[in-house]
Amino acid sequence: SLSVVMERGMGDEAIAMEVEQNAHNDTIPIEVEAPKEPPKIRRLDDSVINRIAAGEVIQRPVSAVKELIENSLDARSSSINVVIKDGGLKLIQVSDDGHGIRHDDLPILCERHTTSKLSKFEDLQSIKSMGFRGEALASMTYVAHVTVTTITSGQLHGYRVSYRDGVMEQEPKPCAAVKGTQIAIENLFYNMTARRKTLQNSADDYSKIVDLLSRFAIHHINVGFSCRKHGATRADVHTVPTSSRLDAIRSVYGVSVARNLTKVEASDNNPTSSVFDMKGFISSSNYVAKKTTMVLFINDRLVECTALKRAIEIVYAATLPQASKPFVYMSIELPSEHVDVNIHPTKREVSLLNQEVIIEKIQSEVELQLINSNETRTFKEQLVQPSSSVPTGAKRDSCSASLAPGSATSVPKSQKVPVQKMIRTDALDPAGRLHAYLQVKPSTQVEHNASLNTIRSSIRQRRNPRETADLTSIQELIEDIDSSCHSGLLDIVRGCTYVGMADDFFALLQYKTHLYLANVVSLSKELMYQQVLRRFAHFNAMQLSDPAPLPELIMLGLKEEGIDADCSENADLKQKIVEVPTFALCLSDMLQGPQLTRGSGRDCAFGRRSVAGEWGLKLQAFGHEGVGVCKGL
Ligand code: ADP
Ligand code: MG
Repeated sequence: SLSVVMERGMGDEAIAMEVEQNAHNDTIPIEVEAPKEPPKIRRLDDSVINRIAAGEVIQRPVSAVKELIENSLDARSSSINVVIKDGGLKLIQVSDDGHGIRHDDLPILCERHTTSKLSKFEDLQSIKSMGFRGEALASMTYVAHVTVTTITSGQLHGYRVSYRDGVMEQEPKPCAAVKGTQIAIENLFYNMTARRKTLQNSADDYSKIVDLLSRFAIHHINVGFSCRKHGATRADVHTVPTSSRLDAIRSVYGVSVARNLTKVEASDNNPTSSVFDMKGFISSSNYVAKKTTMVLFINDRLVECTALKRAIEIVYAATLPQASKPFVYMSIELPSEHVDVNIHPTKREVSLLNQEVIIEKIQSEVELQLINSNETRTFKEQLVQPSSSVPTGAKRDSCSASLAPGSATSVPKSQKVPVQKMIRTDALDPAGRLHAYLQVKPSTQVEHNASLNTIRSSIRQRRNPRETADLTSIQELIEDIDSSCHSGLLDIVRGCTYVGMADDFFALLQYKTHLYLANVVSLSKELMYQQVLRRFAHFNAMQLSDPAPLPELIMLGLKEEGIDADCSENADLKQKIVEVPTFALCLSDMLQGPQLTRGSGRDCAFGRRSVAGEWGLKLQAFGHEGVGVCKGL
């Protein structure tokens, strides 16, 4: 395969030169415009400024609901009820039992930048409340009609007052009121035709609002939440204050979600790397969904963090491919001076100190949990495996593996499927295997499976890195592989079921109704070659009890390729082989340096044209990863 590498490389260079030539031929005509007077700069009207800003804070009905709920939480409420009409476009009403708003504050309540939560910029560093910008209520009055009813403790009656464009429409009117504040937003975006039109599909926003309430409800478990459509008697979200997070999740997301969750925790208290404390729940292998649900609170703020979500999804895809869209609830606490809450107008995102370190720590904790839980699960299945499975034409569902031993005869016979259409679905199924008569005794089988599981999980752990090495040469070789991939064959390799070894070289595989003989030696070579490329510069170190005799291994490798290094005319080659171990050591040091991994493959000593470099590749393949890959097969 090494000679192929060199030929491929040459071809690429030829292409590169061609591209360069073409680039020189391209000339782009530049249009020269006649000089014009610069346009005049005007000062915008306040009403225009405010409406533009409002459109940013209140992007859609759900953003208004979020602001109102956050205000209610800031007011230390223990019950928050939401009513929605027409997806929030007609009416959003949020009632709470918080501390209420003082009569004297009502005149400036909805002016821009009026807040009770912040007085000087420095306070932002230690702010605990959700709000601080004093913009939410003001923004709503610029794009909707806002009515506030509120009462503070000790008062005989409350007040009701309406606002438009930041100002009170008339003096607050005394009225009857229950404890707390009720805010009604009517005719949202009445003065923004385009926005209103794009939001006509009201069902869509109602589901977003229900989703939002659900998220708040499972985090703020000491607050009761409800959300319903106007006129409906049943609430779509309804929780009561509780002390158990799992109970809250159960009442919002249902028993089927809560049943399949495991606790996950991670923390660090090292000021030089990261300081954080994470507690959460993640779904196990039995939770299967179409998309990931990630509920993330950082210092009690509902936020999104795409990087963390992606990192967790990657772990799931590698560890539980069948359950690769998880349910995740996480609450991360950090010192408030490590979080910048002021990077997004709707406060949807925050920026963290040492974000990468934190994500990595959480990722490995999640991975650990999954591997552990997955092992126990597989192990249980293995215990009852031997007599439970029968090759059938129908798809078996995953729970069939839990059938009691001896119950094989009671499996409903789907014998309507003709024998020649039967498909093997399980490689571990002894029935129909070539060496079925070689069945090991059950007790050793269990032990054997347990050790297999350990190997499997350690291999799983060594999944391919997210990014391949940033070397042009490696990238080009990978592109070569990708572009010459045969899709039909790929499907077969991906979807086949192992039947047994036909002889020392050929394995019998079944794919759909066809049987294939696969040359395991070539297949393994190709697999290792591709693995080496994808993991290049990301290999795990492996300690051998005795140092590998590199020169001898190289000799062996060369002999296999038909090159005899012992021949007298190959003295030069022999000398090089002797030097390889030292060279390989230098390389491994060099590759850890950032300047090389980021550089171009052509510039560095480890370019593919360097003979020793190629040997390095090959040695890695057989000496290190080769072991894992072979066992994996
Ligand atoms: P911010 O939350 O950023 O301070 P808002 O415009 O959302 O700005 O609210 C302005 C102020 O109105 C808040 O600082 C708070 O004092 C008061 N307020 C808003 N909603 C409520 C509520 N539900 N209960 C009590 N006070 C409220
Ligand atoms: Mg607010």
